[in-house]
Amino acid sequence: MKAQGYFGGTFDPIHNGHLSVAQQLVDKLALENLWFLPAGSPWQRTPQASAQHRLAMVKLALSNYPSFKVDEREIHRQGFTYTIDTLKEIRAEQGNSVPLWFVIGADSFLNLTTWHDWQQLLHYTHLAVACRPNYSVTEDKLSAPLRSLLIKHYDKDPQSVAEPAGKLSIINIEESAISATAVRQCVQQHKDIQSVVPNAVYQYIHQHHLYQ
Ligand code: ATP
Repeated sequence: MKAQGYFGGTFDPIHNGHLSVAQQLVDKLALENLWFLPAGSPWQRTPQASAQHRLAMVKLALSNYPSFKVDEREIHRQGFTYTIDTLKEIRAEQGNSVPLWFVIGADSFLNLTTWHDWQQLLHYTHLAVACRPNYSVTEDKLSAPLRSLLIKHYDKDPQSVAEPAGKLSIINIEESAISATAVRQCVQQHKDIQSVVPNAVYQYIHQHHLYQ
């Protein structure tokens, strides 16, 4: 049974760094599909662009990639978005045997212990941590709870995982230094963003005067 991947984020806006992570993770985890999960109202931050704009940009960015899909559930959910709620729903829909991989960047992993019910996440999914410049996830740099999590759940060969959930892998990828924060700052400062977002997203940002 081929694994399904899920990539959560604010995507404010989606950028080439996300796409680079996504492409590499599809290969490294041997995923059938990678579902992008744009957050509706993330409880830890307030996005600058509306949920509808962020969703529209995700759809535009993914249109040329057959194995990338959009899961809109968090956009339509009332109240704050908690990843654990989403994962419970997905597991119930997908059944108990399919391997699920939730993909996060190294910065999100370092922040994991602030997530709602974070200790429960690995009951529902595996966790794949994509490397990101300036965020070290080596064992000696982690806080005690994350180090224990890594030691207990670490798997070095994620392609071969047949279990549905419970593994944690750090995935070495060709790193990208792009961030949505930098994209928003560039737009505000009238700097060119054509090399860091897909062309359709570039057009959309300008058409709708986002991030000014
Ligand atoms: P912001 O700068 O607004 O915080 P971001 O660029 O981190 O945004 P998000 O939408 O918050 O983008 O990220 C969604 C997920 O993608 C997170 O798990 C984040 O760690 C990961 N991610 C984003 N950009 C990269 C990147 N360049 N390399 C690795 N992971 C990334």
